Amino acid sequence: MTYNSVTEILQAIKKKKISASEITDEYLSRIKASDGNLNCFITLTEEAALNRAKEIDKDISKNKFKPLSGLPIAQKDIFCTKGVKTSCGSKMLDNFISPYDATVVDKLNEAGTIMLGKTNMDEFAMGSSNETSFYGPVKNPWDNAYVPGGSSGGSASAVAARISPCSTGTDTGGSIRQPASLCGICGLKPTYGRVSRFGMIAFASSLDQAGLFTTDALDAAILLKEISGHDPKDSTSSTVEVPNYFDYCTNSDRKDFTVGIPEEFVNDLNDEVKVSFYDSVKILEKIGCKIKKISLKHTGLGVSAYQVVAPAECSSNLSRFDGVRYGHRSKKSSTLESLYRESRSEGFGKEVKRRILVGTYALSAGYYDAYYLKAQKVRNLIAQDFRQAFEKVDLILGPTTPDKAFKIGEKMNDPIAMYLSDVYTVSTNLAGLPAMSIPMGFKEGMPIGLQIIGNHFDEKDILKLSHLFQKETDWHNKEPGV
Ligand code: GLN
Repeated sequence: MTYNSVTEILQAIKKKKISASEITDEYLSRIKASDGNLNCFITLTEEAALNRAKEIDKDISKNKFKPLSGLPIAQKDIFCTKGVKTSCGSKMLDNFISPYDATVVDKLNEAGTIMLGKTNMDEFAMGSSNETSFYGPVKNPWDNAYVPGGSSGGSASAVAARISPCSTGTDTGGSIRQPASLCGICGLKPTYGRVSRFGMIAFASSLDQAGLFTTDALDAAILLKEISGHDPKDSTSSTVEVPNYFDYCTNSDRKDFTVGIPEEFVNDLNDEVKVSFYDSVKILEKIGCKIKKISLKHTGLGVSAYQVVAPAECSSNLSRFDGVRYGHRSKKSSTLESLYRESRSEGFGKEVKRRILVGTYALSAGYYDAYYLKAQKVRNLIAQDFRQAFEKVDLILGPTTPDKAFKIGEKMNDPIAMYLSDVYTVSTNLAGLPAMSIPMGFKEGMPIGLQIIGNHFDEKDILKLSHLFQKETDWHNKEPGV
């Protein structure tokens, strides 16, 4: 018997059909068999995982269970993990061992999970293909010539390849949903503030949000409950009550959602993605949803606004990496100023430097009004479009990405083309909304995703609709032949 999903694993452990040590061992062997090729993990925490599994098994033998007892999980290497290297995909932090755990990690540990290791990612979460990582690109398990998407590519590829049953990710402009779409799995980005950002290395603080990768919506519902909630260590984390998402998905009989399809998300789609998308819409109609055409007229400006706001915030956030307190320190420097300069020149990669330059420029005196302030105004208009849309509809539907995965190397010399792969995802970050990508079909053998966007703190309906869709389809059960 192989156990692949969170639900299956938790049930098997509860019924004592398998021990925490056995399931951990099983996933570690799967990683060893496939990860030499896929490159999903930067650090494997094998010994710690096996020791922790033994402890959990001791508790289980006394019938002491926690909500996620014995569940193996992979953590994106952007989350600080006590005593374990936390690199953020960068040479800058290649030598950094975190002295504390991020709240997400802490909560998952508290709930009984077992960390398998830390996953590969674009450097400081800047990228859409995982090719900006200091540790080399991650491969898409459906076809190794293709990217898995980014920036949480290692986490997505690992779940798609079934070498981890679930994983964490972060989404600043699409980094959970886009790789989930390109790898054929579920990726949930919660509402801004739903999940604590404490201990999650900051890229763009007003956009960053932690979330999850799983194979289906119910698994995401189980995990979301455990990572959500107010955290006094993050002043932007919300006190809104955390519902029992799993119970809502399985017990509520709500089916009559009004679902809006923004014309801006479907007008320019290629034929194959369009066919899969409208096939999915038919399934939702069959379930009992009402479909409504809507317009989000400023979303077309999303990438432009995002590419000012995100670099501006990153230029400020990344100023802490100066070679003084932690991280890479250049050996070439002789003065304080050259220590800063050389450490940052050597420690950061090309894309990170590009963003710091763009962001510093956009924030500089004389340009602030023309760029940063303007981008914030556009951001406001985008949020307003969504607010008006949610007066008429419960959920918004679109494709997650304009196309299937692209080839490794294909867009590396064309940053604009790379940025445009986030065209359908960035607007929700600018508006702080929750959204999820679930598998909706294939184009030329590569998976493509359906994006469901909800109103603030309405993750439960996103999960419910995804669950209803997955009861009617089996795209989420398809596995790549690793
Ligand atoms: N791909 C986008 C970028 O490069 C989004 C990244 C993210 O969500 N972390 O900025």
